[in-house]
Amino acid sequence: MSLADHIRAESARLAALCTACGDCVSACPMTPYAPGVAEAGPAAVAAGLRDVLLAGPGTPAARAWIAACTRSGVCTPACREGIDPAFMLRLATWRAKGALGDGPLIAVKEDTQFSPKVKAFARVTLTEKEQREWL
Ligand code: SF4
Repeated sequence: MSLADHIRAESARLAALCTACGDCVSACPMTPYAPGVAEAGPAAVAAGLRDVLLAGPGTPAARAWIAACTRSGVCTPACREGIDPAFMLRLATWRAKGALGDGPLIAVKEDTQFSPKVKAFARVTLTEKEQREWL
């Protein structure tokens, strides 16, 4: 299974388990920095997140929440269904940034140093043989 297929499958699995209760949204410390989330309400934002996981456009508030996520993980223990909302947010962020080939739904910051950073990190963690083969 490709990584893209894995992201699709996990997105669908978690979207099916999520009841869109909104408890993860209520627990999130970033909602004050996500325009429209307070006005939309937690359940509607969660429903919009589920839509993004299912390849939909979501809602403006859901997209704002996805864009505001700082991976605090505070949402995960708040979920009464035992789902991992932090992982759901990661999947939704990838999808919203166009990782699966669709147009991006949220702003994407270009990091022109991304590849050099990966290589620098790899050089201090890989063996010389691995570096010769993979870098
Ligand atoms: S708390 Fe869990 S069930 Fe409720 S909206 Fe968030 S992920 Fe879905």
